[in-house]
Amino acid sequence: MSDCLFCKIVAGDIPADIIFEDDKVIVFKDINPKANVHLLMIPRIHIASLAELTEEHDALMAHMMRLLPVLAHEQGLDSGFRTIINTGKDGGQIVFHLHIHLLGGSGLPGFA
Ligand code: AMP
Ligand code: ZN
Repeated sequence: MSDCLFCKIVAGDIPADIIFEDDKVIVFKDINPKANVHLLMIPRIHIASLAELTEEHDALMAHMMRLLPVLAHEQGLDSGFRTIINTGKDGGQIVFHLHIHLLGGSGLPGFA
């Protein structure tokens, strides 16, 4: 999608602080971090949100889920981390390219 911010990061058209990438995903630092560690994991392909997932994305999503604890470990988050997926306007989603927030470290606020 030409007008999608995260597709532009995938294409290299706007810069990001990329900490991991493979053929399926890119992981970069959130520009406005809410915790000591705040990364965003996105698929290279454009999927607007969790609500647009279909069966064809099952392998991709499993890949993303399994990668999260690996990245958390690499970030030193061995005592725990938080993942968040905001979906839709009322879910707090601002960028409509599916992304998983990975948060951790001593700055992590409580959530209940
Ligand atoms: P969400 O509310 O789940 O859609 O979150 C979007 C996230 O993208 C926010 O945490 C923003 O700080 C982050 N963000 C927006 N633009 C950029 C950018 N250019 N590089 C890195 N993170 C960004
Ligand atoms: Zn996109």
